[in-house]
Amino acid sequence: MRKLTTAMPSSFPSLLGDLSRVAPDHVRDVAETKRVLERWMVDPGFRRAFFQDPATAVAGLGVSLTAEQVLPFLGEDSVAEDRRPAAGARPPRSVLRYQAFMQEKIGHRERVRAAGEAADPRMAAWRRRQLNRCTSELGLARATAIVHAPAAFELSKGCTVGCWFCGVAAPRFDHTWAHTAEHAALFRQVLTTMYELLGPCLRQGFLYWATDPLDNPDYEDFLRDFHDVVGRCPQTTTALAHKDVDRTRGLLELTRSLGSEVDRFSIIATGQLDVLHEALTAEEMLRVECIPQNKGAAAVGRKSNAGRARRFAAKRAEELTSDDLSSTIACVSGFLFNMVDRSVQLITPCNASDDWPLGYWVLDSGTFDTAADLRELTETMISRHMRSALRAADVVRARRDLTLSVEDGFLRARSREQVVRIGDLPDPETVADLLTRGDHTAEDFAAARARTGVPFLTTMAMLDGLFTRGLLDEEPPPASRAVPVTIEGAAR
Ligand code: SF4
Repeated sequence: MRKLTTAMPSSFPSLLGDLSRVAPDHVRDVAETKRVLERWMVDPGFRRAFFQDPATAVAGLGVSLTAEQVLPFLGEDSVAEDRRPAAGARPPRSVLRYQAFMQEKIGHRERVRAAGEAADPRMAAWRRRQLNRCTSELGLARATAIVHAPAAFELSKGCTVGCWFCGVAAPRFDHTWAHTAEHAALFRQVLTTMYELLGPCLRQGFLYWATDPLDNPDYEDFLRDFHDVVGRCPQTTTALAHKDVDRTRGLLELTRSLGSEVDRFSIIATGQLDVLHEALTAEEMLRVECIPQNKGAAAVGRKSNAGRARRFAAKRAEELTSDDLSSTIACVSGFLFNMVDRSVQLITPCNASDDWPLGYWVLDSGTFDTAADLRELTETMISRHMRSALRAADVVRARRDLTLSVEDGFLRARSREQVVRIGDLPDPETVADLLTRGDHTAEDFAAARARTGVPFLTTMAMLDGLFTRGLLDEEPPPASRAVPVTIEGAAR
């Protein structure tokens, strides 16, 4: 699908806010454009029909739009040559309205990302470093799509859907966590504890990970708890929206009433989109992003080569991102809970690899029985892993995915996706050598440079700058070798 670059008037109303003030024809234009585009993305049969006869194909979807109103998003190749409209025509108003909606959603994602910074300065600095590292490690395009949410809460053990491409390799569904009085009380205490620890950024958390939220029949009750304690309705992402459309309609009404801006439905088979489009109007699905995951989806939506998908890297290569591109679907830099196990891990996204097949580092893990255990556990994890600045005794080493070189007198750090030029340093060859060897503490490094005439504090500041930019190695040992945090009294 094509990105348009037409300049946007600033006067379009928000469609993620109160719709009662938006003209119905505006809502309809955007909702119906979205509907046609999601059909085009998911359904190869529709793409073929559109290519031959765009007007009939669009009319067949039961929308009031014409093909000319969606063509600007699809590009010339979507239509047979003799059916292409004349070049230079002014885009219809509906096109500008839809474009404004897309820009509003990009702004929403940026706000979610910005709002994810913790009140604790150690965690805030750590998260900023992980954002910087991800930009270097994953590349700007992939990194900006990651919101680095501060927490995610699984409400089941495993997932019933069993997607072959599951980027977090969800295990087979085992059981779910009922919204009993006891569980609800613990959940609310956990949320309260985390809110006290992290502050309002917890609002950017959500209630799934390697689980589908709708596997839990009481999901909506947990959603209300989260909204009640934390003050925001978390985003829902589900691959089960088609299973019970009455439940789905109720869920959308609930999330809308609680102020949710965007929810997401994974579309694993074309038939699922058929069911959803049949049951829900374009307007009801206005704020639902449909993620095409089906065989036959348009090529722009290749899946990450992470998690279970890695097992199919050869067999289904045409559906996955290629080896030379970074891959992860992880979007949390913070705490990943499983409420069934009462476990918590400290995680942050990385490129999926043999060491980190799930596309995220696990820096620490532990279990808890009570909210008091949890407070102690998470505070221990923060003080163990979240330095706000480089310390003199820290060993300094370039990240292992970086190659350092000196070109034209400048030190450069080359990652899979980026080359970063590092300042104007005296004797950059020695800096490159010491950072590659990684056998000096910051203090020893600065002392070695001081002997060649570079002031000690200049080197310390330079190293702290590299640390802040996420260029120094903070990678933990692969998960199998990590030592979990144990808190006395937590017997699990
Ligand atoms: S991708 Fe989502 S729905 Fe599919 S198996 Fe993984 S967690 Fe379940």
